Amino acid sequence: MSRVFNFNPGPATLPLEVLERAREEFLDFRGTGMSVMEMSHRGKVFMGVAEETESSLRRLMNIPDRYHVLFLPGGASMMFAAVPLNLLPNGGAAGYVNTGSWSTKAIAQAQAYADVRVVASSEGTSFDRVPDRDAWGSLNGLNYVHITPNETIGGVEFHAEPNVGDLPIVADMSSNILSKAIDVSKYGVIYAGAQKNIAISGLALVVVDSELVGDAHPMTPSVVNFAQQSKNDSMLNTPNTFAWYLAGLVFEWLEARGGIAAVEEANKRKAAALYGAIDGSNFYANPVRPTDRSIMNVPFTLADAGLDQSFLAAAEDAGLAGLKGHRSVGGMRASIYNAMPQAGVDVLVDFMREFERTHG
Ligand SMILES: *Cc1c(COP(=O)(O)O)cnc(C)c1O
Repeated sequence: MSRVFNFNPGPATLPLEVLERAREEFLDFRGTGMSVMEMSHRGKVFMGVAEETESSLRRLMNIPDRYHVLFLPGGASMMFAAVPLNLLPNGGAAGYVNTGSWSTKAIAQAQAYADVRVVASSEGTSFDRVPDRDAWGSLNGLNYVHITPNETIGGVEFHAEPNVGDLPIVADMSSNILSKAIDVSKYGVIYAGAQKNIAISGLALVVVDSELVGDAHPMTPSVVNFAQQSKNDSMLNTPNTFAWYLAGLVFEWLEARGGIAAVEEANKRKAAALYGAIDGSNFYANPVRPTDRSIMNVPFTLADAGLDQSFLAAAEDAGLAGLKGHRSVGGMRASIYNAMPQAGVDVLVDFMREFERTHG
């Protein structure tokens, strides 16, 4: 049995080395005679895993000491609700930038708990861009500004933090965390579901400035209360230990590859190869404004949508999986997260050229 190149958007491909290591350790974790899934999260062995995982992430992202690193349940969607509950004082208001499907979901969830103001949106141009900062509405009276730095479905990415003055930026980095170097101190909260660039589903990573933590709404469930969870090492209830452990293996893998700077270079090369193939043909097209294109998720359409099914079937035959675009936008999408090797993108590009030659 051989592994395919897996372009799924999430859950997504994991580094082969990480899977092999997990397999080696599966039955007997570090000489305990049990798997990492079968031991107490509060025991010495797992506490060690938790600590190593956090320190590795702190090194990779260069996280300032005053930030808490939390491993919480419920994925990124749980954080859509947890963020306003934790951050907004009574009578507070939150600004949201709407750049696509995931922003729209974050906004809808926040509206249940907060006075939400959409300060900018690219809905009018079918979410093909990041709204230019000078066209945003007023930020007066807001407590934070929420952005989705990478829209996983639409393939739109912020390539710099917007200037929002002293307001904290809250960022849903589910699909581009650890893909490039960022300055964490420019953010109030960074959160991410783990199943794209970190590990597997069911876990949310939260990096939060301790200065923003402490006055959660009294109705905040304690398992997503940032202050309580930081006091309890994210172990207020039983955490998703297997996902946490895998995150540690992925962080170790990233460090061994030379850290985020090296990974960022590799990611840019992969994205350039794919966008180059799309732009260099009249058969494939990407709808996103070139300055705002994602380096992680590359949606593209075929000149004739009637060929979509044959494209996908032929791709499967060529060992290229998960290329179907999201049902809301159609077409194709190649998710090329950190764990996708250059070889996978090269095979995809060759496949696309050959498909165009025979069907174009
Ligand atoms: C996948 C994704 C989510 C949802 O993550 P869950 O862990 O399923 O809740 C949220 N935001 C973005 C940007 C995503 O890519």
